[in-house]
Amino acid sequence: PLVSGKPMAPEEEESVFSLRPGSFSDYVGQRETVETLQIAIEAAKKREEPIEHVLFHGPPGLGKTTLAHIIANEMGGELTITSGPALEKGGDLVGLLTNLQQGDILFIDEIHRIPKAVEEFLYPAMEDFSIDIVFDKGVHARSHRFRLNRFILIGATTRIGLLSAPLRDRFGMFRTLDFYDTEDLIRIARRSAALLNTPLTPEGARALALRSRGTPRILNRLLKRVRDYADVRADGVLTDEVVEKALALEGVDCLGLTNLDRAFLKTIIDYYRGGPVGIEAIAATLQEETDTLVDVVEPYLLKIGFLARTSSGRKVSQDASRHLGYAVQGRLF
Ligand code: ATP
Repeated sequence: PLVSGKPMAPEEEESVFSLRPGSFSDYVGQRETVETLQIAIEAAKKREEPIEHVLFHGPPGLGKTTLAHIIANEMGGELTITSGPALEKGGDLVGLLTNLQQGDILFIDEIHRIPKAVEEFLYPAMEDFSIDIVFDKGVHARSHRFRLNRFILIGATTRIGLLSAPLRDRFGMFRTLDFYDTEDLIRIARRSAALLNTPLTPEGARALALRSRGTPRILNRLLKRVRDYADVRADGVLTDEVVEKALALEGVDCLGLTNLDRAFLKTIIDYYRGGPVGIEAIAATLQEETDTLVDVVEPYLLKIGFLARTSSGRKVSQDASRHLGYAVQGRLF
């Protein structure tokens, strides 16, 4: 794929591409989303036209980019990847759009971070496959309409709430990806281990799945750390014991929580008596970016019931306190 804008770190690119499923049959889980897409693709192929624009929503690492690759493979179009923050000026987007051929796919990651002025070019592009370019200024201003080839826009966002309604409404399909369950993660672990030629026992696969925060990308990253550990400190086989020991060194606990997850929860407990407290206050105390906490840390903690978001702020649950080893007051009566 053509990657424009912010380049991926080389090691991430290498590791991501080697394990990335290339077709729906290799793509584990998210069954309803996969089925919706397969129907849309088959119908579009029958009509010999591109599918409608697709918007994916969900926490990072759940396979949004992977789905864009698979759609491109299935439709036989070229995939161009960019991201909201990389599109600084209208010209950046216009350059990409005018290079697309019929049936090509433009993937915009973090589409909620597209500047407003750039977003306005997208409306006619998505709706009428055209862009209006204004030449000159003031009384001499003239606008010229350029026709684009029929392309498919795939947008991905971690924060649907930050997307403007006019943009959201121009997508024909909208799917939210949810965290993967343990069985699906076990399947992904087995598939990735096989691709890496690494022996993984069934118990090892389960131990890894349980520590992956419901996220395939995390699972693949942890798998590689465990493989290193197994090669150096054990006999190369990924058993549950090896997984536990290797990941303890990485600061990953039995529920998959990382040092940052625990620091986040402990901050609320130690400094704000368990909450409710605003996210900005937590970010300031932790000296972390609010976006990182909202996009990366919170979704999984909410999912497992360790955190609640109330109108007055974030609150830590008793389960979370117990998991972190705090004495939890039981009910007396
Ligand atoms: P971001 O939103 O940050 O771009 P993402 O949700 O697009 O993240 P991907 O980059 O698509 O995540 O997925 C991360 C990695 O996880 C992929 O390279 C792939 O190896 C693996 N993966 C994701 N989804 C699946 C799946 N359903 N089956 C098997 N492997 C998967």
